[in-house]
Amino acid sequence: MPQKIAAGNWKMNAPDSAEVQKLLDAHPAPSVSILLCPPATLLAQLSKYLDGTPIATGGQDCHTAASGAHTGDVSADMLRAAGATHVIVGHSERRADHGETDALIRAKAEAALNAGLTPILCIGETLEERDAGQTLDVVARQLTDGRPETGTIVIAYEPVWAIGTGRTPTTDQIAEVHALLRDHAPDTPLLYGGSVKGANAAEIFAIPNVDGALVGGASLTADAFSPIIAAL
Ligand code: PGA
Repeated sequence: MPQKIAAGNWKMNAPDSAEVQKLLDAHPAPSVSILLCPPATLLAQLSKYLDGTPIATGGQDCHTAASGAHTGDVSADMLRAAGATHVIVGHSERRADHGETDALIRAKAEAALNAGLTPILCIGETLEERDAGQTLDVVARQLTDGRPETGTIVIAYEPVWAIGTGRTPTTDQIAEVHALLRDHAPDTPLLYGGSVKGANAAEIFAIPNVDGALVGGASLTADAFSPIIAAL
């Protein structure tokens, strides 16, 4: 049975550190893995704060190289040195904002594995692709082309149209995609992401082959994130 994971993606936001302490106070011995992915500038500080606690940290992106002339980028080795255990790769906001391709995302995932990090590979269809009946083809292609050949990873299914919109797919729609992912990746934790909140978490976690969530907006406060963790 894959590990249960509640992962928070802070994106380009910096919640008050009091929120982190509140989260720790609420989950002194969680039965699930909790992960916080802050902006790169906060990673070392947050990792140090969480050292010795059950909450781990991750990056939101990494370069394919370990070091070198890549202005503005951060390598997987640097994330590791800053205390991260995981790194998100292929988030749809990076695919859209930075034109990231499946081939590049795969190279980033490989760099993460080489650095000793677990990549969280994000995949998911746009609304146009869903409306055109292409969802399963799109996620299968993103998985096949973006996944490293070997190594332990986490997969996050995040329909682009559900991210930050308050819209979530039906349980049947999530179940259909997660069944396909399970076929391709039997022992891999499969997260759902896109407008997960306390009010819908239990329903989403009851769907077969959903092993946790990648949470954006609702990971920014302990009051919003705690009920999601508790529902897993
Ligand atoms: P959201 O974001 O929970 O704010 O919809 C999820 C994500 O982008 O990982």
